[in-house]
Order: sequence, then structure tokens, then C-alpha cells
Amino acid sequence: MLNEPVTTVKGVGGKFAEALALVNIYTIEDLFYYFPYRYDVFEIKPLGELIHEDKVTIEGRIIHDPSLSFFGKKKSRLTFMVETEGVAVKVVMFNRAFAKKQLNQDDVVTLTGKWDAHRLQITVSNYKVGHAEEQATIQPMYSLKGDLTNIKLKKAMSTAVRDHINDIEEIIPDTYLKAYKIPDRKHAILAMHFPKDRQLLKHARRRFTYEEFLIFQLKMQLIRKLNRESTTGNTQHYNPSSLQEFIQSFPFELTKAQTHTLNQILADMKSPYRMNRLLQGDVGSGKTAVAAICLYATITADRQGALMVPTEILAEQHYKSLSEMFGDRASIVLLTGSVKGKKRREITEAIKSHQIDIVVGTHALIQGDVIFANLGLAIVDEQHRFGVEQRRVLRDKGLQPDVLFMTATPIPRTLAITAFGDMDVSVIDEMPLGRKEIDTYWTKENTLDRVLNFIEKRVSAGEQAYVVCPLIEESDKLDIQNAVDLYNQLQVFYPSTVQVGLMHGRLSSAEKEEVMNKFAANELQVLVSTTVVEVGVNVPNATVMVIYDAERFGLSQLHQLRGRVGRSDKQSYCILIADPKGEVGKERMKIMTETNNGFELSEQDLKLRGPGDFFGKKQSGLPVFKVADMVHDYKALETARVDAQEIIESNKLVEDQQYQELYKLLENDSYMKSKLD
Ligand code: ADP
Ligand code: MG
Repeated sequence: MLNEPVTTVKGVGGKFAEALALVNIYTIEDLFYYFPYRYDVFEIKPLGELIHEDKVTIEGRIIHDPSLSFFGKKKSRLTFMVETEGVAVKVVMFNRAFAKKQLNQDDVVTLTGKWDAHRLQITVSNYKVGHAEEQATIQPMYSLKGDLTNIKLKKAMSTAVRDHINDIEEIIPDTYLKAYKIPDRKHAILAMHFPKDRQLLKHARRRFTYEEFLIFQLKMQLIRKLNRESTTGNTQHYNPSSLQEFIQSFPFELTKAQTHTLNQILADMKSPYRMNRLLQGDVGSGKTAVAAICLYATITADRQGALMVPTEILAEQHYKSLSEMFGDRASIVLLTGSVKGKKRREITEAIKSHQIDIVVGTHALIQGDVIFANLGLAIVDEQHRFGVEQRRVLRDKGLQPDVLFMTATPIPRTLAITAFGDMDVSVIDEMPLGRKEIDTYWTKENTLDRVLNFIEKRVSAGEQAYVVCPLIEESDKLDIQNAVDLYNQLQVFYPSTVQVGLMHGRLSSAEKEEVMNKFAANELQVLVSTTVVEVGVNVPNATVMVIYDAERFGLSQLHQLRGRVGRSDKQSYCILIADPKGEVGKERMKIMTETNNGFELSEQDLKLRGPGDFFGKKQSGLPVFKVADMVHDYKALETARVDAQEIIESNKLVEDQQYQELYKLLENDSYMKSKLD
């Protein structure tokens, strides 16, 4: 049985078992699924092609019996000569005294080790008596901890294979194995640990890539289904004609993409299930308008709406724009951490008694003293991490609202279906008509004077500019210093016609609000800022975005920052000041100057940074796959997703015998349990 302790493998006990526990191997199955992290491929090459100091493999005949010498406390050195291609090569082996008995004159040996081309000498790390066979040329290398060694692991693995390989049962239904021509589980595990050739190894890896994706996608789809079905009777009877009237009051027509996503969301709200949907759209694509319509829908269904955003600046801004859009259609309040005391009590009281229709605020608004009379829709802006915990908070308050997440970070599809696979996803993939592309330039710091003069020109044309300093996540002290220094510099540089403001995270919210208001009113023409302006800030008259040390930002973040301009019919500009050292950095700057399309950028970003870094360190939350690679194996990911969908929707998982093993696996999965509401 595969779930038996690994100590039931002959030769595995005590200390060794402890060492295995360090790499999370507790059962025989764990051992089988402990795949090599790489394979060393030893190819026998002619002596003339061997590179000095490389790890190489040679084959030769021993010219004379090895001689053994001891030194230090317990150290030994074994030396001998072998003949290969008619040349004598010196062989050195350290601390392998026992090998003296195995190696005799005229034996043919295969030796792997570090090559010294000057002395014609090999320092051996691996040897075997006999000819090099194809079989021995692919060497699995395991990642090791504590007392584990590659040799010990390989030995345990071969014993486990000898005694338990037939316990391995297939978990993937035959249909899929056949359709994709992938090896069965037993042979695939064998090939991962003892690869006979590259082809078999490739197929084995293909199998586990699919297996990992399939299992993960099954989990996500099942979570989605179970969470959906856990709430019924959640229909929101909104009033379509009121909605139409509201939409007609906008100074523009909705784009096709806005209408499409709106319909998807409204269908969710009308359905008896609870909505759990992600709305993606590039900056400026018009998510806020869609959000407003949905909030209005919930009001016409006689329920309340909440809009939650990550910062107070954004909360204030959304509060203002929603108030303008709604007019006297709704009563809206702003609730942030800085609303305290009596004022706060008045507001929470009004929310509780349903005198308030919409609450806009920071995270604080779903906590503690805030109790909704009848929350119908919660919209969460720019917060990848809002999830199960917060839904639980809401549920514990007796609320089962529809939940809509909005993000302006265009998320590459592969990541979206992995990180948000348990949600429904809508995408606004179209910009409102008449938007001008932002002209983006990349320059080195030594042209700073020109940049500053350019800003001055735009300012004298009545426009405004942002100058952003980099965010260094670990130390916002340094951040602020950067911004303060630059602010002082610009104040000296510019005449009094160019008023410079300063914005950073350490300002109180009153101070921030004051600065933002002044900038919005064009009392300040240039705003020096840390990245607090990154998300959502809307000052249409600003047409220049200068980003200092731009190489420190990822593409997505640069794109977000750039999205602060280009919000009117005026031509806008983005200037990246950067002197990247590496190729990746240069590539990033180049891509920025070449495209304004957020989804294109995000795909490039994913390729440059890899999935782990995409959401930033704090927010990764991505699953760890052993073999599969989301970026590289995206086709397999798509395939697995479609298969998983079919399996879950058809209910085969529960009903079909073929799926029994998969079902068992999911039933006992702790990740699944943690994700269920
Ligand atoms: P997002 O929230 O996606 O960044 P917003 O909703 O803030 O985008 O929209 C950006 C700007 O575009 C706003 O000034 C908004 O009034 C305007 N806008 C939204 N939808 C449209 C549309 N269909 N046509 C023209 N302008 C629009
Ligand atoms: Mg619903």
C-alpha cells in the first residue's frame, strides 16, 4: 500500500527516515512522488571536446592497480591511470578507499567528474565498473537536506520500486491516457526515477504535468461548484427599467465589452446562487461605470451595496464619482478608518437601519461594528487577497451577498485560470472610443533637465504632471526620502508658476486628501509621489507621467502608473527614467515604449518574471507544482481545465467508477477544505 510509512521500505529506518521527513517524505507514495529536480546527462565525448573544469564522463581501461594514500584524520586519496583514445588520463578519487578493491588493472571503467584539461586529470564524483551504457547516462539529481544524499535516496528508491511498484494504481481515467498518449502512473513513476532514455522521461514529465494540472483544476472547479451551491435563494430581483434609465443618464454609451460583462454580472445576481466573479479590465476601460450599474441594481432589488478599496485616497475618489453618478438615486456614505467616534456611530447606525444604500470604504467596512441591514452586493476593488476569510466574515454576520472583484491588473490567462480558477471571470477587453495612445519614452537620468523642461512646457499649456519615485517594499523610509529629496529639487528648479506637491504613504489621510484635492483643482501642477498614486487615481487634466528608477518596477506596475494619464482627449506622455543593468530590465523598458495594451504587457511580464513574482511576493498565493510549469506548459493547462470542467459538470466524478480514485483524492484534500465557505 502506497500510504504506508516509508519505513516499511527495506533499509529505511531511524536516522534515514528522519532525513526523509525533512523533505516531507513520510509515505511510500511521498517517496515515489519525490521527483528529481534535475537530470544530469552524461555523454561520452572525445577527449578533445572536453571543457576544462566541466563535469564530464569518460570511459577507459585501468592501466595499473590504484594506489591508496591516507591524509588528515580520516581522509584518503585513490589514484590511478586509465587509457582512453590511446591517451593516459590520471584519475583521482577522494575518500573512496573501498573502491580500491573494486578497481583492478585492465578493468574498463566509466568515470564522471571534474575535468582538468591542463593536467589531463579527472577528479571523480561517480564511477562504475564497465562500459558506459545509454542507461546510465541520465542521472537523476534530487534536492537534498540534512543527511540525505543522492546515493542513499536512489538506493531507497530502487528498493521501493522493487517491492512496491505494483501497488501503484492509476488515478487518471483511461480515456484521457489514451487521448493524450501518456504513460500510466506506474511506468511514469519508474521513468521519472530511472529514466532509460530522454523520450521516456519526456513522456513521464508530460504525464505528471497533466496530472498536476488536472487535479488542481478539478479542485478549483469543485470548490466553485460547492461554494455556489452552498447558497441558494439568493436571487436579486432588480428592476431592469430603472437600470436602463440610469445607464441612459451617463454622458456616454457603454462599450460592447462593458455591456457584455454587465450582463454576465446581472445574470449572476439574478440567479439563486451567490456570485463569485472577477472583473478584469485595463485602466480606463470603464470598470467603475459597470460597478455603479451593478450597485444600482442591488438598490432596486431593495438591498444594500458595498464598495471596498485598498486605500483611503481611492475610497474618497470613488465616493465622489459615485455620488455624482447617482445624484439623488441613492444615499451613499464614505466609511474609512479615519471616520471615528460619534460620526462613525451615526453612520453604522444608518447602515444597520437601511437608511444607507451604498457604503464606500476601505477594508474596515466589513469589520467589527459595521452591520448591514441587507447587503446584496459587495464589490472589492484591487484586492487579490480578498477571499475566503472575508466571505466568512460576511457569512458570520448572516450575510450572503454576491461578490464581485475588480482588478485593473490585466492577468495573463494562464494565471487567471490558476489563481482564480474557483471564480467566474469577466474581461473588459475594449477601451472607450476616442482614447489616444500614450506616447512612452525611455531615457537615462542624464537627460533629466530635458524631462523637467518638457514638464514645464506642458504645464504652461495648462496641463499637469506626476513624478513617481520607486517603491522599495522593505523600507518605505527610504522611499519617502527619495520623494522628499526630489520634491525639494523640483521646487528649486521650477519658477513659481509651477507649483509642486508631495504625496507619500506617511502623510495623514487629511494631508493626503488636501494634496489630492489641490492637484485635482490644478492648484498644484506637479505631484511628486511614491507609488500611492498607483491604483485608480483619476485626474484627467494630468498628461505627463514621469517614473523615476523605472527599472525597479515590474511591467504591470509601470502600466498601472502610466494609466494615471491618458484620461482625457489630450495627448498624454509617459517618461521612464531608467538605467537598467540587465537584459530583462532593458527588455521591459522597450516593451513599455512599444505597447499600450495591458494584456499584451502582462503576458510579456509573465514570461520575463515567471508566475511566482507576478503578483508580487505578498500576494502570490499560487499553487506549487512539482513538474508542471504554468508558463511553459500553458497548453496542457488549458486541456486540463476543459477536462476538469467536463468531469465536474457531468458529475462523473461521483457517479462513474473510472473516476473513483480521483474522487477519493479530492475528498481528503486539505486545500479544498480550506477553500470551502
Ligand atoms: P477604470 O475604473 O476601468 O479604470 P473608469 O471607470 O474610471 O475606468 O473610466 C475611466 C474614464 O472613462 C472615466 O472618466 C469614465 O467616465 C469614462 N468612461 C467609462 N466608460 C466609458 C464609455 N463607454 N465611453 C466613454 N467614456 C467612458
Ligand atoms: Mg445571485
